[in-house]
Amino acid sequence: MIHRSLGTNLLITLAYTGLAWLVSQAFTQPAPIWPSTALAVVAVLRGGWRWVPGIALGSWAANDLLLDWSTPGALWVTLGNILSPLLAWGAFRRIEPNPDRVFDRVRNVTAFFLLFGLLNGVLSGFFGATGIHNLEGSSPEQFSATWINWAVGDAASALLLAPALLLWLQAPPWRHPPKSPIELVITAALLFAPAAWLYLAPVGDLQQPITTGALPIILLPLAWASLRLHPRDAYTLLALTFVIMVTGTLSGTGPLASIDKGLAITILQLHISLLGALVLLITTLDQERRHANESLHELARELERQVRDRTRKLTENHARLERIIEALPAPMIMSRASDGYVEQVNEAAAELFGMTPDRLIGTRTIDYYCDPKDRTQLIERLRSDGVARQYEVCMNTTEGRKRWVLVTAALMPDDNDYVLTVLQDISERKREEDALEHMASTDELTSMLTRRALFERAQRKLAEAPTHSALLLLDLDHFKQVNDRFGHLSGDEVLRQVSRRIHEELRSDDLLGRLGGEEFAILMHCRQADDALELAERLRQAVEQLRVPLDGGDIYRPTVSIGVALPDDHPATLTQLLSRADQALYQAKAAGRNRVACWKAATHDTARAEG
Ligand code: GH3
Ligand code: MG
Ligand code: MG
Repeated sequence: MIHRSLGTNLLITLAYTGLAWLVSQAFTQPAPIWPSTALAVVAVLRGGWRWVPGIALGSWAANDLLLDWSTPGALWVTLGNILSPLLAWGAFRRIEPNPDRVFDRVRNVTAFFLLFGLLNGVLSGFFGATGIHNLEGSSPEQFSATWINWAVGDAASALLLAPALLLWLQAPPWRHPPKSPIELVITAALLFAPAAWLYLAPVGDLQQPITTGALPIILLPLAWASLRLHPRDAYTLLALTFVIMVTGTLSGTGPLASIDKGLAITILQLHISLLGALVLLITTLDQERRHANESLHELARELERQVRDRTRKLTENHARLERIIEALPAPMIMSRASDGYVEQVNEAAAELFGMTPDRLIGTRTIDYYCDPKDRTQLIERLRSDGVARQYEVCMNTTEGRKRWVLVTAALMPDDNDYVLTVLQDISERKREEDALEHMASTDELTSMLTRRALFERAQRKLAEAPTHSALLLLDLDHFKQVNDRFGHLSGDEVLRQVSRRIHEELRSDDLLGRLGGEEFAILMHCRQADDALELAERLRQAVEQLRVPLDGGDIYRPTVSIGVALPDDHPATLTQLLSRADQALYQAKAAGRNRVACWKAATHDTARAEG
């Protein structure tokens, strides 16, 4: 580390002295450029204190050994050559500590010009001028002129060469498009041609005002170079332009040919410093614009990446969800609440409805409900509670087959128009329940309703038409004798045949049940009393005309007594109707059997048909 630092310091000393020697050889006074000053600026900017010894040694050697200064004078100037860039650097690093960012921002460029150009020049000029006048003993009248010339010369050197050097040293990234060598050559030609014409062409009387007036022409290719080329290249072109300017001016051509060389060089130095400022400002502004553009693009790319990521995740989630639904062993349907449109189904659902998923999708759920009211109720429940559980619903599937399903449904949380429905096929259970219910409600011997089933249904029927229902009670006459004479089995056969015959006489909406033994009841809807009486009489006759062949060759001829409870103006309960019909039946029996008696007329006997 120490070795490297020592080596670099030595190198700086050599470069500093070498450059001073070169300039002193190339120019008799005044020198238009002092590269050692630029070297000092670059050294402090990139190395800070570490390379100060190299600068100090170089400066002392150059002044004491090469430029004929006395040792105290050389040391004094050396002090100025160290202090000036160090002060400028001390201030500059507060603004921009990163030496790679010196020309990254307009603020930095401005600070660079003020500190390393103005401050550095004025300070080192002061040391130079005081050194000359106090230590070398020149006349004091020239003090301010020396100071100004020294300051401008140092400033120009620092501002022209230091940025070029720094830009060459500076590591990328420069945010610039790929530079075209052709464009570089053309721009250089467009800059050097007018510069050569302005500064190198012999000056005639006529030409003088024209070239002077045309001086700003080089601004155009310079501006172009600043915007289009690498800043390093643009700045190098500017430095080369300065070479043309100085060459012409010192050799007596160009717009400054007629004035004092020292003054002309100072004018050119000022000129080139300001042009340097212009080039750096333009490149830096352009850089800032490119930075901003790049950040925007970066942001856009980041956003795009995020959107792509999101989309991919969503697609994956969607696919996973589809696979889950697909693999779900229970039938599942996703549909719209508003119109029942089927969006998605799984295999199990398609199987339940007897079709493929593709055919089921796009149909409407409402078409599958045996009773559309069930769907309306379900949706109402979903709208109020968000979920509906265990709805027992009959569904039409293909070929008119009905299936009973248990529906559990929920509205999708992210979109309330979507219903997720899970179905459970309960058709088999329903069939078993129906069979049990049928068994429980049907009398085994006569296939009529049992007493309990009859009463249940009669209650409902009565509630629908309380003033238009009549009840008939039928009791076979002397039935006990059948059992006694022909045996119980024959009795059963008589019961079967009689009940079948009665059944034949009834309408589909009449309720017929066996109350027990050989006693039956009928609840019928009648618009007028005659309807019931007519039916009772028809039944009596039908039974009377029955001939029941029995085992052993006998023929049995049954008769029946019927008690009728007619509808009243006041609604009657089933119990009341039963009691009235029973009283009427009792009367029919008492009156000799095989007859119809009606409660309403107290003893409303019909014509007696003899059996
Ligand atoms: P009445 O004219 O007064 O009604 O005389 P009845 O003999 O029919 O009198 P009752 O109602 O007392 O007798 C009914 C008989 O019906 C009693 C019983 O032996 C018979 N019975 C009841 N249930 C069955 C059955 O399921 N099968 C057979 N074979 N006989 C039954
Ligand atoms: Mg009886
Ligand atoms: Mg009887």
